Amino acid sequence: MLLDSTIDELLTIRYADLQRFSQASPRLRRFLNETEYDVATGSYTRNGQPVPDAEIKQILELEQQRITRQFEDATTEYLDGDITVEEWERRIIDEQKTAGIIAVLFALGGIAFLMSNRNRGVILRGVGDRLRASGKGVSGFGTLLSNGDRSPKRLKAYVRYKARDIRPTFNSVAHEGRKLAGYNEGRRFLDPSVVKHCESCPGYERREWVPIDEIVPVGVDCECAGRCKCWVQYRFNLNREGPLRAIRNTNSLNQQFFN
Ligand SMILES: [Zn+2]
Ligand SMILES: [Zn+2]
Repeated sequence: MLLDSTIDELLTIRYADLQRFSQASPRLRRFLNETEYDVATGSYTRNGQPVPDAEIKQILELEQQRITRQFEDATTEYLDGDITVEEWERRIIDEQKTAGIIAVLFALGGIAFLMSNRNRGVILRGVGDRLRASGKGVSGFGTLLSNGDRSPKRLKAYVRYKARDIRPTFNSVAHEGRKLAGYNEGRRFLDPSVVKHCESCPGYERREWVPIDEIVPVGVDCECAGRCKCWVQYRFNLNREGPLRAIRNTNSLNQQFFN
């Protein structure tokens, strides 16, 4: 019930709500204020210079740490007996929603693009589905807790695990953004410098160009949750029918890279 209403709120979100959510991350607001986002390429520039990919990854890392702290605070309060298990669940699900919205805004260059895009429902529904899957786990864990399993160690490990969701959410929203921009093919590569990948990543490698829907965004459905250096490349291929064929400027869609 709580989860359903949380997701409904997400799907009907308004500008003012997004502004409120973006307050949760001063780091993101600062970043969006000082950069420009290019819809066609899905990339950021600052003073005309491309923002390095390492900076994007660093922000995601710091956001994940911030969310982890929020989760841990709620968990400590629960373990200290200051809040009930229901309140704990609500706090975690609320924080997950906030983290999801922050990931959306970060992946798509801020509120304006999201609100002006008539396909935003597709993106928000995708985030809602992720939230639903993850939130069900939270409720299940809450039930375990109320049945007497209060192992603080396990609970803390669990919330740290949940906080990792921001990276795959960011990557899957960015992937949707590429589709909305008109790209129709992708390739995905494993980090060649790494010997031991997580169990799932090697299965997602696509060395040849494939339809964009066959590309699994980095971190989605995988054990490392995108802590690897797998990377995805997108292009527009006129000879392949894509999700969007009515594209005004195909030149801008050639050979764009996204990690
Ligand atoms: Zn992986
Ligand atoms: Zn990987």
